[in-house]
Amino acid sequence: MNRLRVPIARLLKLSLRDYPGKLCSKVYVYGCNFRCPYCPDTDLIHNQQEGSKVLESDVYDHLYRVRGYVTGLCIGGGEPTLHNGLLGFIYRVKSLGHDVKLDTNGTRYKRIEKLMEERLIDYVSMEIKAPLERYPEIVMSKVDMDSVRQSIRLLRRGGVDHEFTVTMIPGLLDGADLEEIAQYLIGSKRFVLQQLTLPGRHCPELEDVDRYSLNEVRAFRDRVAPYFGSCELRI
Ligand code: SF4
Repeated sequence: MNRLRVPIARLLKLSLRDYPGKLCSKVYVYGCNFRCPYCPDTDLIHNQQEGSKVLESDVYDHLYRVRGYVTGLCIGGGEPTLHNGLLGFIYRVKSLGHDVKLDTNGTRYKRIEKLMEERLIDYVSMEIKAPLERYPEIVMSKVDMDSVRQSIRLLRRGGVDHEFTVTMIPGLLDGADLEEIAQYLIGSKRFVLQQLTLPGRHCPELEDVDRYSLNEVRAFRDRVAPYFGSCELRI
């Protein structure tokens, strides 16, 4: 097994919504240390290092071909920061002239810090899963909360453009939870409330749960928007 390879499950060649202000491509990597019941990509959770469907070289070839009109690569998953090969992969992507956005759950603080120090990432989207004391319940896993806190502090200190996102999950997070998260993140530049994508498969009780309605979602936004420079709905 090549431990320095990033196991890539999918390459989305063009996305209008995964990198603020840019046309981008997106890779989805295998492996995650959380088991969120609402996860839209449960097929990615287990690390499939051997069964990667897309080679890193396929991604480089694609990015070379589309340079000029696609200017960024979003790296999501799964949790990309679990992989030792991430720095090398991003280094190659940057050398092709693309900006890089990292989607992360923030549990590998030191890796994010290293990527920032090396100026290898241009944008970070960190998903906040719940009020901090409720993390293990919501992500159904043991969590290194110190690393999550450190990642939040690191991003808020500046040095890389970033956003914090929260998925609105009926039955798990209500308006009071969202406001508690907003209070913790008060003063951050950009906060994004995102709609639930698909029913999760880890948790059968969520399969019949409807998304929050547009009116409910707007009410949440109005409640948390005063805490931030910018608050966006992603629905
Ligand atoms: S952190 Fe993301 S990829 Fe991992 S289980 Fe949760 S939603 Fe799925």
